[in-house]
Amino acid sequence: MIRFGNGEQIPVELHKVRVVQKLNLKPIEERLEAIDKGGYNTFLLDTKDIFLDMLTDSGTNAMSDNQVSSMLQADDAYSGSQSYYRMESALREVFGKHYVLPAHQGRAAENVISKVFVKPGDVIPTNYHFTTTMAHIEINGGKVLEIYGDEAIKIKSSHPFKGNIDIKKLNNVISEYGVDRVAFIRLEASTNLIGGQPFSLANMREVRDIAKKHGIMLVLDASLIGENAWFIKQREEEYKNAHIKDILLEMCRMADLIYFSSRKVTSTRGGGIVTDDKNIYMKLRDLIPLYEGFLTYGGMSVREIEAMAVGLYETTDETVISQSPMFIKYAVDELDKAGIPVVTPAGALGCHIDAMGFLPNVPQEEYPAGALASALFIISGCRGMERGTISSVRDENGKDILADMELLRLAFPRRVFTLSQTLFLLDRIKWLYANRELVGGLKFVEEPPVLRFFMGRLAPLSNWPQKLAAKFRADFGESL
Ligand SMILES: *Cc1c(COP(=O)(O)O)cnc(C)c1O
Repeated sequence: MIRFGNGEQIPVELHKVRVVQKLNLKPIEERLEAIDKGGYNTFLLDTKDIFLDMLTDSGTNAMSDNQVSSMLQADDAYSGSQSYYRMESALREVFGKHYVLPAHQGRAAENVISKVFVKPGDVIPTNYHFTTTMAHIEINGGKVLEIYGDEAIKIKSSHPFKGNIDIKKLNNVISEYGVDRVAFIRLEASTNLIGGQPFSLANMREVRDIAKKHGIMLVLDASLIGENAWFIKQREEEYKNAHIKDILLEMCRMADLIYFSSRKVTSTRGGGIVTDDKNIYMKLRDLIPLYEGFLTYGGMSVREIEAMAVGLYETTDETVISQSPMFIKYAVDELDKAGIPVVTPAGALGCHIDAMGFLPNVPQEEYPAGALASALFIISGCRGMERGTISSVRDENGKDILADMELLRLAFPRRVFTLSQTLFLLDRIKWLYANRELVGGLKFVEEPPVLRFFMGRLAPLSNWPQKLAAKFRADFGESL
């Protein structure tokens, strides 16, 4: 943040724009049509209809000049590519682990890890699940146990580390199920589904000690590790003068196995697995050629592999890593000041609006976070992601398992949006909040059995989208 003369703290962009992409801000009538065609699911929208695409940070972060130029030296080869060895060196240096396996994205690493380490009846204690992680663990007969602290799923909180594991609950899980049934303990950096919330190094150390004592493997999902390290520097007294690089290394040292999505951590595509344990490496290695590709590309193009290596080094640069959290903090603080329910403290990844607080008239069975995502797109062209019951699953009786939180996530991909675009977003959210009683619920009309939030189609329970659009036109006197 940079202080202005009037005392305000502003997230000034610490980069210049050299390649740009034109955006469309279409009239509200066209957006109404687009969301209807997309089954009121923002995953099914086309970018040609979107103004600010805040669906995700996955594969949408801006690449640096050095990343783009590195792609030119890519060494095309099925095996033994020099590009791969450059990435391997980067991973060894940044994560401090010797053995490296490539995967085409984060969930592919989860597939391989779950296939090898999860047996039917196993449990996997974690600070919080991630959608694809849970799906892979369950498909292999395992069960995810979320053992977060009391503050984790409170919308309003000042707890600096809502992503911490509750140590008492961890001990209870181990004594209840027995060491043999605990496949591994999973810690997710900048815990995605609860609002990009970090864990502390002190907490990780306690988790590691327990894991070591019982001989249980500690797995770190490092997809958002850079931001977690940055929050540790900001919020954990002991590390306020530490370098991000050293914080990263300390986090990684404590984990037995680390996997990540490069779509997040390095602003490219791809993913991977690293470990110092040869046994773990050997168990996983044989599945890579089967599911991903040969060991020196793993389903990635060599150009992506080059950019990934450069991106990894840049993740240790504080100026790079702090940009997105600063914009998010600015947006969260402004919404909070305006009395709009938003997850606090600001985390990584995006700004998370509490849809149940925003739309108290829409019951959870009618998917308030999905409705809010549709409503915001209609009135602004900004696309967010539902992270609530639509992203959940049904129980054995076919009833929705209601999510702990109903969040509309507005992702701030690294170095993509400017402050004036952020101000536009905030203005439209404020208008929507003032007109929130016009927003109604949704129902499924087409529902896939697995990961339904990706492809599922919904419909509004009344003609609320048209009424909302009419009010917008009346208030703004135009349809933009
Ligand atoms: C995105 C993400 C994944 C999955 O990675 P993909 O590359 O999208 O398959 C896994 N874990 C976390 C925490 C993530 O944010």
